[in-house]
Amino acid sequence: MTTPRIAVVSAMREELHALHDDLHDPRVERVAGRDFHLGLLHGRPALLVLSGIGKVAAATTTALLLDRFEVDAVLFTGVAGGLGEGVAVGDVVVADALLQHDMDASPIFPRWEVPLTGRSRFAADVAWTDRLAAAAHRAGHAVHRGLVVSGDRFVSTSAESAALRGLLPDALAVEMEGAAVAQVCHDFGRAFAVMRTISDRADDAAHVDFPRFVADVASALTRRIVAQALA
Ligand code: SAH
Repeated sequence: MTTPRIAVVSAMREELHALHDDLHDPRVERVAGRDFHLGLLHGRPALLVLSGIGKVAAATTTALLLDRFEVDAVLFTGVAGGLGEGVAVGDVVVADALLQHDMDASPIFPRWEVPLTGRSRFAADVAWTDRLAAAAHRAGHAVHRGLVVSGDRFVSTSAESAALRGLLPDALAVEMEGAAVAQVCHDFGRAFAVMRTISDRADDAAHVDFPRFVADVASALTRRIVAQALA
């Protein structure tokens, strides 16, 4: 039996670069402006790639990697804005399900439903989600598990995050890629999980908190948790 190939995907270089130190025998394939780094991660065949920011960039990257490479599971890691009560900067959120908060074809389709799919929430793979949550916990983080919402907006005002919380009270975190990755993996019938470290509270201070967090801790943290999850 061959070991499954794991793809670790992040939006930005700051979220992934430390993981490259753990990738053995690296080889790069460039497709559509993306560098797909193939190699061995903790003894497993793996692929690391940056998707770029936003839903289209994430969907394109995910579709390419599932179509061109033998990938059994997609693990998306990065940072997000905390929405849920008690979801603080430095905490880890692992998604049970993902939803596009800016998808709205109402009244023709229910709000948030992806037209013609009959669903608004895409469930993550339970085994990988458990594994990431356990790994983050072992690494000493407060871990929350639940709904993560995605949209093509950097949510950086208290008014906007309060509005999102009002509309989607169970949303724990907001980011810009996860639900797109989820939809593509669903189309391909492939497992995926999304883990986000909270870089900001999606409030009026987000534009200050976010860059500070991504510069200092985001990728080291990804490296530590992924190592634990693959051990
Ligand atoms: N100008 C910034 C843009 C980053 S966009 C830059 O330095 O490049 C924010 C990225 O982090 C996205 O990939 C998104 O998934 C995540 N993110 C973190 N906090 C977020 C928030 N409050 N709202 C939306 N996305 C957030």
